[in-house]
Amino acid sequence: MIITPSRVPFLRLRPHDLVVVDLDGGAVLAGALRPSIETPLHLSAYRNRADIEALVHTHSPAATAWSYLAEPLLPTTEENEYYAIGPIATSPPAPAGSSLLAEAAVTAMGASAAVLLGRHGVLAAGPSVEAALEIAAVVERQAEIAWFLRGDGAQRYM
Ligand SMILES: [Zn+2]
Repeated sequence: MIITPSRVPFLRLRPHDLVVVDLDGGAVLAGALRPSIETPLHLSAYRNRADIEALVHTHSPAATAWSYLAEPLLPTTEENEYYAIGPIATSPPAPAGSSLLAEAAVTAMGASAAVLLGRHGVLAAGPSVEAALEIAAVVERQAEIAWFLRGDGAQRYM
């Protein structure tokens, strides 16, 4: 698995900064920097789902805010259907970088292309980095729509 290093701002990130990690044992195989603290999360998702070729983890604001509600992300938008994301559950909160978070996320994700990490952010999956990034963007837009609908009108759509 190739993963971004810990604590390097994305704008300064260069290809040689990426870290290669053994998918089975989790050992660093190549790279001079420390792998992301969320390496266990990514390893669990890849091990659990043979169809996942890339993952994008974000703290995008609308989706992260929704993750504090401990509710699934509803309603399912047309865009969600188009990208066949599936139900977007919210996993129970767990410490960043922990195996507890990794297990909770993978369980809540099921067969979907995305999951909200409780009180934390988003994990989006796809057959390529570009696809996973697009899924992350769709989840953020869906969360914005969910926030717009929340309130008086929400119950009519959820
Ligand atoms: Zn995070």
